[in-house]
Amino acid sequence: MNSVTDLKALVLRGVRDIRLEGVPKPEAHKGELLLKVGGCGICGTDIHFYKGEWKVKLPLIPGHEFSGIVESVGEGVKGFKPGDHVVAEPNITCGECMYCRMSSRNFFCVNLKAIGVDINGAFAEYVKVPAKNAYLIPPNMPLEEAALIEPLACCIRGLDNVGIEVGDTVAIVGTGPIGLLLIQLVRMWGAVKVYAMDLLDERLRIAKDLGADVTINPSREDPREVIMSETEGMGVDVAIEAVGSPKAIDTALNVVRRGGRLLIFGVSPQDAVWNVRPFELYDKELLICTSYRSPFTFQRAVRVAASGRIAFKPIISHVLPLERGPEIFARLDKREPGIIKVVLKP
Ligand SMILES: [Zn+2]
Ligand SMILES: [Zn+2]
Repeated sequence: MNSVTDLKALVLRGVRDIRLEGVPKPEAHKGELLLKVGGCGICGTDIHFYKGEWKVKLPLIPGHEFSGIVESVGEGVKGFKPGDHVVAEPNITCGECMYCRMSSRNFFCVNLKAIGVDINGAFAEYVKVPAKNAYLIPPNMPLEEAALIEPLACCIRGLDNVGIEVGDTVAIVGTGPIGLLLIQLVRMWGAVKVYAMDLLDERLRIAKDLGADVTINPSREDPREVIMSETEGMGVDVAIEAVGSPKAIDTALNVVRRGGRLLIFGVSPQDAVWNVRPFELYDKELLICTSYRSPFTFQRAVRVAASGRIAFKPIISHVLPLERGPEIFARLDKREPGIIKVVLKP
């Protein structure tokens, strides 16, 4: 049995300062589950925390995209038992404030606490979660793949917001883990032509394998030219920004048709600024959507994942032990090619 100091976790202590440390074992209190972490994905958000581009209270054990096996259940918990395989929605709401009582808006909860953002997360051997946030997954689903259910739930939220329709043409700017999930989801939703853009050819190859019809590398070709020539000069019905940069939003804006829909999905650094010509927005009569986390989409994400209709494996480039966390954060910070989704496994 592990003693207290044997338990390892990645603790973020400052800008570009994440360390493997010994931590005490969390305990499941009333209504909570203690999970033995099966896998936890590194998100672009975690890199923002690491670089100080999104300020969070430190020290913090990050990690909000995780799966695990129930180790113990707190008092009053029903529906879960030790040994169950689960994922958990990281956003914990109070259920009582005004936003919580507005349908579909509860993640604006004034008391919101997110696992791995506001409270300790799953770059650790154990994490505790409210049982009401947990969802059973099939025991044969690989736990490192199940860690991608959280980003999948966020993608579903974004697509609900922008509203993909059968027959739509869709451009996705950025084919990181999110872009690669979105390509598959929009096809499931009925998109008939998917354009994927990225500066890295290695990612575009995967995009193609996962269903992108046309791939565009903006370092070699002008996305607007390609898409205009493909769409009789109109542009796509829906453009999705999945990078988290004002430049990528511009690219999406450039390729969407008049009367189209633009989804700004990527999380830009807190201080980034987007310069836009309002006349262009007027002239295109655009519907511009954004998307905040995953309210009420987790159950559907679990079902989609369990259906086997989304390929996670090609998106996961690395499964590494927690010990390699500090090294891989530094490599992700440098945007080292060859890395797509990293899942840390204690
Ligand atoms: Zn995330
Ligand atoms: Zn609330």
